Amino acid sequence: MKIFVVNAGSSSLKYQLIDMENEQVLAKGLCERIGVTGAISHKAADGRTYSAETPMPTHSEAFEAVVFALTKSDAKVIDSFDEVSAIGHRIVQGGAIFKGSCLITEDALNKIDELGALAPLHNPAHVLAIKACIKTFGTEKPQVAVFDTSFHQTMPEHVYMFALPYEYYEKYGVRKYGAHGTSHHFVSDRCAVLENKDKKDLKIITCHLGNGCSITAVKDGLCYDTSMGFTPLDGFMMGTRTGTLDPSALTFIAEKENLTPADINRICNKESGVYGISGVSNDNRDVAAAAAQGNHRAQLSIDMQRYQILKFVGSYIAAMNGVDAIVFTGGIGENDGELRKYVCENLSYLGVKIDDEKNAVRGEEIRISTDDSKVNVYIIPTNEELAIARDTLAIISK
Ligand code: ADP
Repeated sequence: MKIFVVNAGSSSLKYQLIDMENEQVLAKGLCERIGVTGAISHKAADGRTYSAETPMPTHSEAFEAVVFALTKSDAKVIDSFDEVSAIGHRIVQGGAIFKGSCLITEDALNKIDELGALAPLHNPAHVLAIKACIKTFGTEKPQVAVFDTSFHQTMPEHVYMFALPYEYYEKYGVRKYGAHGTSHHFVSDRCAVLENKDKKDLKIITCHLGNGCSITAVKDGLCYDTSMGFTPLDGFMMGTRTGTLDPSALTFIAEKENLTPADINRICNKESGVYGISGVSNDNRDVAAAAAQGNHRAQLSIDMQRYQILKFVGSYIAAMNGVDAIVFTGGIGENDGELRKYVCENLSYLGVKIDDEKNAVRGEEIRISTDDSKVNVYIIPTNEELAIARDTLAIISK
């Protein structure tokens, strides 16, 4: 059985075709500049590639290009899309409505659309992509929605509420929803397997550190708290996002510079974080290289991000009254041994010890803590697409 996984943005569309017999990726690719010009780059598992510039006024033409790449191009991997059993969509915001993945019915699609108010950059694009799928593949092909937020739906009320006047929660649903839930769920489940324990008996802290970053406290297999909030801006500093800061700093700057809410959103989401502090790049590799050359702001950005990550890990140890395992994942989490070492060394009071040789491993699943460490520390590469494909299969098999 083959599952087609879609991660759609307003002008882009990432996809993977996964064979669920062996959970292997058959092909993956990316359509870009949808609505502007249009381009596809596609790669089959055996290394064959196909790329083309082709007009993509809407997501429908992008899906047509994907079907061509998968079934007819030099890098084709199937004869017809009929071989694909279902389509799984990554959906950023499921609000308080979607507590798990679901089949996309007309009602579900309307609700995903309504939740666009909480994720204006993402949900409207997902809706466009789902409608384009219906147009391209017909209503017979089951489509499943897998939400970034649903793993976080188990947070208790006192954790997810903000201390704003209660009416804003009642009127607009302003509260913490979290993000990256699919990844936190995937790596925490995998961690329980590696620990050889029932996840119901474990306290795990999962650090998803990529361009976007979040940390989650997973207690008894369920999300207890997570660093991202109402939107994926909250938490700690990321590639271009601020993370948590004193809101009055923003109202102060807005008054001084005569900025609108949209300006503030842009500054906090796109111009801040590692990029805003270092002035070099949003990519930690470039920033580390600049710091090594003596660039003070680059070093400052590294120091700030590490410190903020450490504080979240520490606070979640307190929130769960302990921790059994800490997991690092995402581009930074999987590759940046210095950062992992910094975090773990500052938890030495808990008996956390890591093995420097194992910590030098990059992007591989491995336990990096020593045998006598009181807390196990792992690198577990995340695989959100596989998690989406597994959920999609589970839903259509019901
Ligand atoms: P996204 O959130 O876009 O999926 P990724 O999970 O791919 O992002 O992570 C991107 C981040 O990972 C970038 O900041 C990049 O610098 C960082 N990264 C990748 N490789 C390394 C490395 N070897 N050392 C440090 N950071 C790395």
